[in-house]
Amino acid sequence: SGAPPTPVERLSREDVFIAVKTTRRYHRPRLELLLDTWISENLPQTYVFTDGEDKKLRERMGPHLINTNCSAAHNRLALSCKMALEYDTFMKSGKKWFCHVDDDNYLNVRPLLALLSQFSHTEDIYIGRPSLERPIEAAESNSDTKQVRFWFATGGAGFCLSRGLALKMKPWASDGAFMATAESIRLPDDCTVGYIVEALLGVTLTRSALFHSHLENLALVSDVHRQVTLSYGTVENSRNTVPVKGPFSVEEDPSRFRSVHCLLYPDTRWCRGARTL
Ligand code: UDP
Ligand code: MN
Repeated sequence: SGAPPTPVERLSREDVFIAVKTTRRYHRPRLELLLDTWISENLPQTYVFTDGEDKKLRERMGPHLINTNCSAAHNRLALSCKMALEYDTFMKSGKKWFCHVDDDNYLNVRPLLALLSQFSHTEDIYIGRPSLERPIEAAESNSDTKQVRFWFATGGAGFCLSRGLALKMKPWASDGAFMATAESIRLPDDCTVGYIVEALLGVTLTRSALFHSHLENLALVSDVHRQVTLSYGTVENSRNTVPVKGPFSVEEDPSRFRSVHCLLYPDTRWCRGARTL
């Protein structure tokens, strides 16, 4: 609270590499909503990692749509295959920060830049929201079933890594090593990132309450302007969404992302004529 912290590094949007994970069957129901909203303001630094070709999306995104040729199955190997490519593509990009989001996240780039500018990209920074109240435990298969405990940032809320830290992750993350690392602990992609950072490199996750997944009660999120990520989902047949009133009704905009976008970018063409504004 109080005055915002002084930035240690001036950052612009071009300094951040944004990776969005999706899958072929979510192109229409999820990705198009993101393209209409936050990605439309951030396409030059955003890359969408998917598992199937799509002519219509290709026309809209060009090289910003990356077909990983990873399997479209929802299993550990398929998901870590995508994260491995996100990492490799970031490393090649030369950008200062890597940020990952899911295709049901709204990424608010202005507070993201304000947050990251409080650090230097040459420091070891891993920032996001831990999904559990306790650290996760894993058995390393390569040693004699040694138990390791570590925290990880839940992929469904988004997380970021500094280039300084990403460089140190190379032996366990680059050129396919990430998939082998994920298999060695038999855990999903986001847990594997936490394992490499906390358990192998001894770097601590920086917790931020500005990242949100649909695992939390999104009705409690206030001050949407300040949040870095948002999400939406359903729990027991009822919607779990952020509490924004308009300009679109729940029927027109069930995720609330179009209404959020109009709040953040009121000059958007399709916001100005919207009904209840
Ligand atoms: N996903 C994927 N392949 C699949 C299923 C999901 O790459 O076969 C991606 C999906 O696009 C999203 C993320 O994994 O970015 C999480 O999926 P979802 O939101 O459906 O699941 P949950 O949040 O419940 O884990
Ligand atoms: Mn999800």
